[in-house]
Parts: sequence; C-alpha cells; structure tokens
Amino acid sequence: MYDVLVIGGGSGGYAAAIRASQLGAKVALAEGGEIGGTCVNHGCIPTKVWLRAASFYRDMDAGKEFGINATAGPVDFKTIIERKNGVAGDIKAGMQGLLQNNKVDVVMGKAVLKGSGRVDVDGKQLEAKRIILATGSRLDSPDIPGLGDAALTSDQVLDLDKLPASVLIQGTIGPIEAEMAVLLKTFGTDVAIAVDGPRILPREDQDTSSRISQAFRQQGIKLIPRMKLISVEKSKKGFTCKLAGKKEQDIEVENVLVCSRKPAVENMGLETAGVKFDEDGSVKVNDYLETSAREVYAIGDVTGGWMLSHSASSMAVFAAENAMGKRKQFPYHLIPRGLWTFPQVGAVGLSEEEAEKNGYDVETGSFPYSINGLAMTANQADGAVKIISDSQYGEILGVHIVGACATELVGEAALAMQLECTASELARGIRVHPTFSETIVDASRDVMSWALYLPKR
Ligand SMILES: Cc1cc2nc3c(=O)[nH]c(=O)nc-3n(C[C@H](O)[C@H](O)[C@H](O)COP(=O)(O)OP(=O)(O)OC[C@H]3O[C@@H](n4cnc5c(N)ncnc54)[C@H](O)[C@@H]3O)c2cc1C
Repeated sequence: MYDVLVIGGGSGGYAAAIRASQLGAKVALAEGGEIGGTCVNHGCIPTKVWLRAASFYRDMDAGKEFGINATAGPVDFKTIIERKNGVAGDIKAGMQGLLQNNKVDVVMGKAVLKGSGRVDVDGKQLEAKRIILATGSRLDSPDIPGLGDAALTSDQVLDLDKLPASVLIQGTIGPIEAEMAVLLKTFGTDVAIAVDGPRILPREDQDTSSRISQAFRQQGIKLIPRMKLISVEKSKKGFTCKLAGKKEQDIEVENVLVCSRKPAVENMGLETAGVKFDEDGSVKVNDYLETSAREVYAIGDVTGGWMLSHSASSMAVFAAENAMGKRKQFPYHLIPRGLWTFPQVGAVGLSEEEAEKNGYDVETGSFPYSINGLAMTANQADGAVKIISDSQYGEILGVHIVGACATELVGEAALAMQLECTASELARGIRVHPTFSETIVDASRDVMSWALYLPKR
C-alpha cells in the first residue's frame, strides 16, 4: 500500500511525487505517456527553444542599429528541432533520475480509478491511502466543418522542418496562440488571427492586450477581431476559411492552427470515484486542492484555471503537503504569467478591470520603457509597467509588464505581492542602474503620485 499515488508525470505530478517523498511518504507515480508531460515534450520547453531561435533571427536585424551589419542566412529548422529534442531529452533524464533518487516507484501505463484508493495501471493493481490527479490537458480541436484536413496542431508545428506559407489562428487568443503567432511570423509565415471576442489575451489587463495587439500589427500579423471560424473548404492554394461576425469574410490559408486545450479527464474512472467537474470540464477542487472524492486531490491543467507549468508544480507542493496531513490553502492570486512574445509579457494578480469589478477603489501607476535607461541603450524601448493598487491600504493587486525581460521581472512583482508589500514600500526600493527592474520602482512611484522621471500629473 502506497501513502501517495500520483497519476501523471508532467510538471505537477513530478513535483507532487518528490514533495510527498520528502515528507516521508511511500510514493508511486503512474505515467501513461512520456515523463515530462506537456511542458517538456510539447509545451514550455520546445516553444522556448523555437522562440529563442526566433529571437536570434530578429536580433540579426536589430544589430544594424549598432553597426553590426550581419544578415541571417536560410534557417535550418532541423537544427532547431534537434536542439529542442536534445534539451527535452536532458530534462526528462534529469526528472527520471530525481524520481529514482527520491525512491518514487514509476509505473508506466494508463491509470484508471477503481474506487477507495484502488487504481488499475494497465492491468497492474495499485493501492494508496491518497491519490493526486495530475493528468494535465490535451489538444482540443474545435468542431468546425472541414477543419480536419486544414488543421495544424501546436504539437506538429514544433516538429516542422518547413513552415507553412500562411496560417489562420482562431478562437480565444491566449498565451499559446500568441506565442505561436510570433514564432511563425518571425520565420516568414503569413499569420492572420481571427479573435472570437473584442481582444486578444482576454484574461490579461486591457493595456497589455492593446500593447501586444499593436506590436503584432507592427510585425505584420493580421488581427481580425470579433470573427469566428465557421467552416473550412479545400481551395487551390490550401483552404478557404469562412469567418462570421458582423459580416462574413473569407480568408485563404495553407493551414488552420489548433492549439486550444481541455482538461484530460476521460476514461479514468473519475465519475465512479466520485470526482466532480466544473462547467468547463475541469476537475473541481477546493482551496486545499481536494476533489469531491475522499482522499483524492487534483493539481495542474486538469483543474483548469491558468493552465501553466509553474502553477501545476506549485499546486503540487500544496497538494502533497495536504495529502501528508498539513492544511494549506493554495494562493491562486499569486500565479504569475509569462509570454515570450516580442515584446514579452509578465503579469501577476488582478487586471484593472477585475480589481474594479471586485469592488476595490483602484489606483494605478505606470512607467514606459521608452524612458528607461537600459531600454533606451538596448533599443528595446517598446513596453511599460502598470501597477494596480488599492487606495485604502496601498495593497498591490496586480502588476502588468509588457517589454524586454518581462518574464523575469514579473518574479519581483510576484514576490512583492507574496510578502504583501505596499506600493509605497515598493516605491522606495533600490535597483541597479541601468536595469529594466527600475521601471517597477518608477511605476510604484507613479501610483503614489510622485514619479520622479515623468511629467507632473
Ligand atoms: C505549446 C505550449 C506552450 C506552453 N508554454 C508554456 C510556458 O511557456 N510556460 C508555462 O508555464 N506553461 C506553458 N504551457 C502549459 C504547460 O505545458 C502546462 O500547464 C503544464 O504542462 C501542466 O502540467 P500538468 O502536470 O498539469 O500536466 P501535463 O504536463 O499535461 O502532464 C500530465 C501527464 O499525465 C499523463 N496522463 C494523463 N492521463 C493519464 C492516465 N490516465 N494515467 C497515467 N498518466 C496519465 C500524461 O501522459 C502527461 O504526461 C504550454 C503548453 C503548450 C501546449
């Protein structure tokens, strides 16, 4: 009998197994696909190798402003793919080594819950006092007539040694869609985005969405708001996609990108075990990451929400600790977000609209990259930091960064919020000059209405 059985060996499951083992549990981990899950095999790691290549490619051009007149030759996509596979392979080997080092029994096979701590893993019967579901998410192709032949999934893009001449990205445009758009566009694909609502990145602050939309347009990515893809038909050059909104519009492309995802919950015996679901099909959990079934916890993408790797691995720590007798609430409000678009995005906490909806008397402050010393020297002046705070106590409710190194900078914002630092305290912080991090201090000073380097309000 195991103390803890973790189902799924992605970002969440891997971390949960190690944390439970650190706390003295006898742990098994069942994995039905590949250790590393989406993040290592088809998500964060592969996309970041591709986006690093895209960043080098752009920098060849950017060098001209500094007298570096290099020209990029043809891109060897096979080398990017080899590098991606190499990095993913190294990470997986490291994960397997650490699971072994922590004495976690890894059982390869598909797990099905059989009720009260019993789990079948491809015919092997396992018993555990507690179960942590970390089965992640999977691609979810929308039900659009004719889409099948035109569809190109995000998994497939990452293994292409020749990119399509044109793609349509459609639906709700979140981080994966946005990163795919810049990746493809940088390497020469014509990218059109049909947004099913008024704006891209609908879960982020309006200003972030506007800034990234503007950057996309400058990069030649076509944005078509309030349009839904309703059908796809084979055409001479590829596929004709019918879009419907206020009016109808046809667009001809080589492929339609499919990257939406849904929680992986099917055929695992979850219903019979008493696990309940939210409206979006994700596993319902409380703040302690307990599901509706006794002694069954759930973490990561399978629980919906932000569906991010660091969210899964952080939930893992809380679920494993709770499974081992502690009682800790997961701090959903501290989950930072990062996008490796050009420019990058980093965000944590509430958007201005959300803060207002939640009844806060909101104060905001912002600071543009265009007058930050490092951004000017580096010719990376596109972007800004925006801080949302509550006027009563100065509590920082959200930080929204668009600009170079935003994915790193947001860590400082997340720490400030975790330690309940106020805007006034942040405004008195000292940062190395010249760095991008100075923009956070400057934006906090703007919240306090004493920004030193902005014209008087
Ligand atoms: C293109 C793309 C780019 C992304 N980029 C980023 C990024 O930059 N940063 C970021 O934070 N997030 C990113 N993500 C999201 C990130 O990959 C996921 O949030 C993360 O992998 C979720 O971890 P998880 O452990 O919940 O699930 P997963 O990583 O999906 O792992 C679940 C595991 O469970 C296994 N499994 C499923 N069912 C069973 C079963 N019945 N029995 C046994 N095993 C089972 C699966 O095989 C899988 O290995 C990206 C995703 C995609 C698709």
